[in-house]
Amino acid sequence: MTIVPAVADIPNVPGMPWETSGRDLRVGRILCVANQKGGVGKTTTATNLAVGLAKGGQRTLLVDLDPQCNATSGLGATPAAIHPLVSDAPLCGSVIETGVAGLLLLPGSRSVRDVERLATLARSGSFVLETHLAGGLNAWDYCLIDCPPSIGDLTRTALAGSTDVIMPIQCEYFALEGLTQMIEVIRDVMDERPGRLRFGGIVLTMHDDDLELTREVEEEVRDFFGEIVFETVIPRDVAVSEAPSHARSVLDYAPRSRGARAYTELCMEVRDCE
Ligand code: ADP
Ligand code: MG
Repeated sequence: MTIVPAVADIPNVPGMPWETSGRDLRVGRILCVANQKGGVGKTTTATNLAVGLAKGGQRTLLVDLDPQCNATSGLGATPAAIHPLVSDAPLCGSVIETGVAGLLLLPGSRSVRDVERLATLARSGSFVLETHLAGGLNAWDYCLIDCPPSIGDLTRTALAGSTDVIMPIQCEYFALEGLTQMIEVIRDVMDERPGRLRFGGIVLTMHDDDLELTREVEEEVRDFFGEIVFETVIPRDVAVSEAPSHARSVLDYAPRSRGARAYTELCMEVRDCE
């Protein structure tokens, strides 16, 4: 974990659920969940990983950077009028408790103007998001960023502020289409800050063992990307898709479901690759 000296002076913020006294004041890994395509399981993965890590005792922050605000509404929260990352208000006043102990949410905003202002963060310097998160909040162990379905400025901002990129790939035809551009952007960001951003891993989503197509996509992805593909695959499971309409993660909505078990295993893999 990265210990950022700049946050060492931040006192406990009253009202924050994370009491840092007696624990290291540090910011941990920032996991950017990104893929240029929509509907591949970014929000589902960001949300369930965040919930799973929090349930495993990790102080976790979920940041909704997608103007669609699905991560926000999927946890039963209301999108912010102004995105907390571009608002003048202190970040600690903008975080929302989620009902999952140890998990805080920085809600998204649907405002087009905010999207543009957030995008300018990308152009004004790579460190902005990271500094913002570290300086505006109390210490946390994991921060998950749910990105919009594009390789535009918002995703760049998120990548530039992250330590790991996690890329969900849906086991579908065209799964790899457009991935070359996405990987180029990731490489660009890696070159800008050598040693900072790494490929946390690729996660195969909506996996269906019975489908030939799933097996083909899995083989192709594993052949191409090798060991950066997580062993855990996320099965297509109706409980996973139903959970957000109950304002919960699948881990709470259907803890015994295949989807919940898979996301719990994925959390363990993510924690193992520190
Ligand atoms: P993205 O954020 O990449 O656009 P989402 O996470 O919103 O993708 O997922 C797209 C749709 O697929 C949503 O309706 C979601 O509930 C559904 N979905 C995601 N993962 C699964 C899964 N493992 N099984 C079944 N449905 C899923
Ligand atoms: Mg999404």
